[in-house]
Amino acid sequence: MDSQCIAAISTAAGTGGVAIIRLSGSGALEIAGKVFSPAGKREVKDFRPRYMYAGSIAAAGGITDFGLCVYFRAPHSFTGEDVVELHCHGGAELSRAVLKKVLQSGARAATAGEFTMRAFLNGKLSLAAAEGLADMINGQSSAEVRAGSLLYAGRLTQRAEEIQAGLTDILAMTGADVDYPEEDIERTELSDIAARLKELKGDIDALAATYEGGKKIKNGVAVAICGRPNAGKSSLLNALLGYDKAIVSSAAGTTRDVVEGELELEGVRFNFFDTAGIREQAGEIEKLGIVRAKQALAAADLALVVYEGAFGDEEKRLVTQCSCPVIKVRNKRDLGDVPGGDEDIFVSALSGEGMEELKKLLVNTALPQSALEGAFLIEERHYAALKRASESLRSACDAVGAFPVDIVSVDIRSAWDALGEITGETATEEIVDTIFSKFCVGK
Ligand code: GDP
Repeated sequence: MDSQCIAAISTAAGTGGVAIIRLSGSGALEIAGKVFSPAGKREVKDFRPRYMYAGSIAAAGGITDFGLCVYFRAPHSFTGEDVVELHCHGGAELSRAVLKKVLQSGARAATAGEFTMRAFLNGKLSLAAAEGLADMINGQSSAEVRAGSLLYAGRLTQRAEEIQAGLTDILAMTGADVDYPEEDIERTELSDIAARLKELKGDIDALAATYEGGKKIKNGVAVAICGRPNAGKSSLLNALLGYDKAIVSSAAGTTRDVVEGELELEGVRFNFFDTAGIREQAGEIEKLGIVRAKQALAAADLALVVYEGAFGDEEKRLVTQCSCPVIKVRNKRDLGDVPGGDEDIFVSALSGEGMEELKKLLVNTALPQSALEGAFLIEERHYAALKRASESLRSACDAVGAFPVDIVSVDIRSAWDALGEITGETATEEIVDTIFSKFCVGK
């Protein structure tokens, strides 16, 4: 592995109080010594690891700043290499000038995600943990950040490793690691092997099932608001968002496009699509809106069918077009009608009555409880690997007793390898490169 000292600005681009220039790799402390002059009679080469020192920082163009410097000695650093951080003032131009000086002093500019890639290659964190870190940094809702932090803390890696350990035990039972003759494996052992395989497959499937909620945490929950013209869909969207996003008008067919609005509920992003009223007698432009409305409906995780008065044939027809859960939202409660119109919830978009209950209903309908408590799985890559592991174990289960054990062990090994893609043990270079290229420079 390339251990040349790399450097980058690790804080966000722009102006701030402080910026951090990070160096990692061999010679990091010597290079820092050409840039940083500690106060007093100290020398950079004598720095105690993990202690902050004050001093002057030389930047390109003859500029001098005053700041701090800290050294982490390998392997006790984020990357596992020698790391130095220079904390200068957070001017965009100033931090670039400090970086330039560091590069002139012998470091090379880090590529996107290179610090984290080195941490992975040095065994400081698993691949799944690195992805968790990216989710935590890029997360757009608190639930996504929380799920990312659980990944980073190693929750998924630990589960994958536990299952792998179970598979290794079974491989030992099959004698795959030792050259036992076939006849030595008793039938009782075969049924024990089958039972254990089934149990581990169950564990994998349970883990994979958490992706159902995790996917919504990562991508947001797509909610289609549909119903007849004038039912109050746009008003409902505005009431949910708390501001006027959609145009509200009493002329039928006003909403001609799919309006999007975003709202965070219980830490999860909900993306609303206010669809054009789907009706038969529509003009050309409105027809286009209707096509898009139907597309939004097909992609939705949840649909709100909004109506006034009775839940009629038009509403029933809409429900048949939805392949997702539906909430029947009866609107215009302020007009004084009584509950009992076949609704799941009776609200008034105008007065706001029932809006908080509707938000609770949205969360409870869209997300399993486990997702709110912190889903394991938010990355499709992990889900795909688990599905492959499960499929291999299904095939192994089918093969036990019917085929020689070495055939069974081939399937068990593929399941093990699929789990290894999560932790990183068996991930290809291509997978690793793709993951780290999603990071920003400086991380
Ligand atoms: P859309 O065509 O389904 O999007 O319906 P709009 O949101 O444009 O509303 C149609 C009409 O119904 C407008 O005049 C709204 O002011 C009115 N409206 C919407 N919600 C309510 C409500 O809860 N109560 C009452 N009284 N009127 C409402």
